[in-house]
Amino acid sequence: MKDVIEVEVAVVGGGPTGLMLACELALAGIRVTVFERRAEPVRQSRALTLHPRSLEVLALRGLAPRFLERGRPIPTGHFAMLDTRLDFSVLDTSFPFTLYLPQLDTEQLLEARARELGVDVRRGHEVEALRQDSEGVSLEGTAAGAAFRCEARYVVGADGARSRVRQLAGIRFVGTDTTLTAMLGDVVLGEPPATPAHSVNNARGGVMLVPLGPSLHRVVIFDPARARVPLQEAVTLEELKQSSVNIAGTDFGMREPRWLSRFGNETRLAERYRVERVLLAGDAAHIHFPAGGQGLNVGLQDAMNLGWKLAGVLRGHAPATLLDSYHQERAPVGEALLRNTEAQTALMPHDASVMALRDLLSDLLKSPALNRPLADRLAGFDGAYPALDLPAPPHEGEPLKALTGRRLPDLALTLRDGSVRRLYSLLHDGKWLWLRLREGGRTPEWGRWTHVVEARRLEEREELVPVGDMLIRPDGHVGWAWAPPSRARAGMA
Ligand SMILES: Cc1cc2nc3c(=O)[nH]c(=O)nc-3n(C[C@H](O)[C@H](O)[C@H](O)COP(=O)(O)OP(=O)(O)OC[C@H]3O[C@@H](n4cnc5c(N)ncnc54)[C@H](O)[C@@H]3O)c2cc1C
Repeated sequence: MKDVIEVEVAVVGGGPTGLMLACELALAGIRVTVFERRAEPVRQSRALTLHPRSLEVLALRGLAPRFLERGRPIPTGHFAMLDTRLDFSVLDTSFPFTLYLPQLDTEQLLEARARELGVDVRRGHEVEALRQDSEGVSLEGTAAGAAFRCEARYVVGADGARSRVRQLAGIRFVGTDTTLTAMLGDVVLGEPPATPAHSVNNARGGVMLVPLGPSLHRVVIFDPARARVPLQEAVTLEELKQSSVNIAGTDFGMREPRWLSRFGNETRLAERYRVERVLLAGDAAHIHFPAGGQGLNVGLQDAMNLGWKLAGVLRGHAPATLLDSYHQERAPVGEALLRNTEAQTALMPHDASVMALRDLLSDLLKSPALNRPLADRLAGFDGAYPALDLPAPPHEGEPLKALTGRRLPDLALTLRDGSVRRLYSLLHDGKWLWLRLREGGRTPEWGRWTHVVEARRLEEREELVPVGDMLIRPDGHVGWAWAPPSRARAGMA
């Protein structure tokens, strides 16, 4: 007899994306189960970085302090390990840095949060079959040798690069195979470099070193002479040391390897992020050469984009078509991620012509005006989303269309009583926020998951000066913004 689990949303995969999504859904009161095939968390951390937009996403739910406490901020990011790093300190955010935090910590913190919110996280549960109809989705799988079944209204595949959900839903994963590989090692360094994010690049290859603790470092090596070694061939400490000596002239005293791995540049994007009641997020939707430390970050941001939409549809606050905006908004971000990692991959061979290009780009990136747009991209500040395909709320004011879909930083807000609050602190509950900056008139009824805040002033910013009302999405992007109604019509508002 199969154990049947009935839920509103089943999330397949308990990695960072699946856990973040589960938190978002549970916050909105949705019954959610996470099925994770591994009985125990993976001890080795692939990702080490949380970028500014991910920190904002966490701050939108009041979670940033937990992550900041454990991680180490570095005011830069990198593109293709170029000698000139990306300056994050100039970005328009409360988090102008990369937070070095191992993926294991990120997952632990998200899992703890999910459990706090009542998410049913089931480890050791592998999903093997999926069937959907107009009412819901059935999953089947195995846990500790016994079969289980789950009936859900929606299923999200957050089950990583080899996503079973994606395959079972018949979604094509379009792209290219691995053509080159690189190596990493988490090792103790007897002779660590003086700077925290140290790299060496020359015609023999590239070496990057990132501290993981007092003596432990992540060493990443692109050695053109080893770039054709297949992924399946295990990396040895000797190989890592030899490549480092060949490129940097030293092995930095590498010893006591904790993890050695080879990774490649297979690059693919899901053709659709949604097929009816099945959706994809994170690595299940996009894979690429892990350059610039972006994959986990984009996964967290996918989850933030999807959570409130799925909750809104399940609670009847929004039509099911709102879910199409998930693909419309996030697939271009996935596409841009693939393009920038392909560009970085093209800069990996270190032959004479590529070295010339690397030197040129490094030189250009010294200019703040050129550094900034690339820093914005890697940080996750990709620009505005298109207007949502929802009926605009009734309003007498002039729509401020240039603001539609824009991400708002954590602005300071002076409320009517004179107290000052940060904008994100008003979004911790995951609802829409109707921000009223004009005096008088009524707030039109908008039958969604919304709360209203009346404020006197918003932090001084040219583009926000004309705003009278702003309806802010749960993910901190502008849904709609209006100038105050003109005097003649103000009484009608
Ligand atoms: C070498 C390397 C370095 C990287 N460095 C960075 C970095 O610095 N910064 C960054 O942002 N990203 C980095 N990444 C990418 C990052 O690790 C991934 O993008 C991230 O793990 C994706 O998270 P996810 O939750 O989408 O998928 P995953 O982390 O892959 O999680 C998927 C989960 O689903 C589970 N699962 C799979 N199939 C099933 C099934 N059938 N049933 C139940 N459970 C299932 C898996 O066990 C897994 O736990 C790096 C990647 C590599 C390879």
